[in-house]
Amino acid sequence: GTELLPIAFFEGRFVPIQEAKVSIATHALQYGTGVFAGIRGYLDRDGQTINIFRLPDHTRRLLQSARLLRAELPYDAESLGELIVELVRQNAPRTDVYIRPFVYKADLEIGPKLKGVRDELAIYMLPMQEYLPITHPIRLMTTSWMRTVDVVIPSRAKVCGAYVNSAFAKDQAMECGFDDAIMLNHHGKVAEGSAANLFIVRNGTLITTPVTADILEGITRRTILEFAHDLGIPVEVREIDRSELYICDEAFLCGTGVQISPIGNIDGRTVGTGEIGPITARLQQLYLAVVRGEDTPYRHYLTRVAVA
Ligand code: PMP
Repeated sequence: GTELLPIAFFEGRFVPIQEAKVSIATHALQYGTGVFAGIRGYLDRDGQTINIFRLPDHTRRLLQSARLLRAELPYDAESLGELIVELVRQNAPRTDVYIRPFVYKADLEIGPKLKGVRDELAIYMLPMQEYLPITHPIRLMTTSWMRTVDVVIPSRAKVCGAYVNSAFAKDQAMECGFDDAIMLNHHGKVAEGSAANLFIVRNGTLITTPVTADILEGITRRTILEFAHDLGIPVEVREIDRSELYICDEAFLCGTGVQISPIGNIDGRTVGTGEIGPITARLQQLYLAVVRGEDTPYRHYLTRVAVA
C-alpha cells in the first residue's frame, strides 16, 4: 500500500494521519459527493526546500470544483494555500510529494443531494515519484468508455464520483496491455487521458482540445500553452479527431501526477518515429527545470517551503 506522511489536516485540525478517519456512512463515501485537488511539491536541488507548483491555481480550482458541488467552506484560496504550506512544513518531507486536499460531504445522511449536507476539508500527503514513465514513450489505447459529459458529471470539476469513469477507462487499457487510456467525448472527439490532458503535434503545431471538450481544466495544460507561446511554438486549441491520433508527429499526456509523458504508440499505431519528439522533449525539459526550482522565468509559479 501507499505510505502516507504522518500528519494530516482533518476537519479543522492538524492530526496524526491515523486519526484522519470518517464514518462508513459518510455521504461522500456513499455517493461520491466530494471534490479534490492533486498538487505536487518537488524537493529543490538544495535538498531543504519543497517547491509547490502553482499552489494558488490549484486552490482556486478546488474552490471552483467545490462551488459546482455546492460545498461551503470557511476558506478562501489564500487560506487554503496557507494550510497546505503549513502541512508541508509539519511533515517536512525530503522527497517529492503529492498533496491531496479533499472537500467532502460529511453528514451521515441517506439520499443523494448537494445542498444542506455538511462539508468538510481534509488534506494529506504522500511521497510520489513518477506516475507514468517520462523518460520513455508510453503506449495508449482509446477506450470504449466515453468521457463523462458536462450534463452528466462535469469533467471540469475534480468530482470524486466521476473518477469511476476514469477507473473504467484505465482498467480496460491496462487489461489490454497498455499504459493508460484516451477517452473520447460524446461527440466522438478526443477528450483526455484517465488522469491527464492530451496534446498532439502536427506539422510543427501544438494542438490540444478546448476546455469545453469534456476535460478537466488542467493546470499543467495551461502551463504548457504558456510555455509554447513563450517559446514561439505555434498552438491550436480546437477539437481533435481520433484519426488525428494515428497520423500526428508527436503526442503526450500532461498533468500534475503524470508531468509530461511522451506517447509512442496509440491503439497499436506508432506515433511519429515512436521516440520522444523534439517539441515534446523541449517542453518536458523546461517543465522539469521549472518544477525543480531551476533559474527560469517561471519561478513565480513555485511556492517555496523550507523544510530543514
Ligand atoms: N484530467 C484529469 C481527468 C485529471 O485527473 C488530471 C489530473 N489532475 C488532469 C487532467 C491534469 O490536470 P492538472 O494538470 O491540473 O493536474
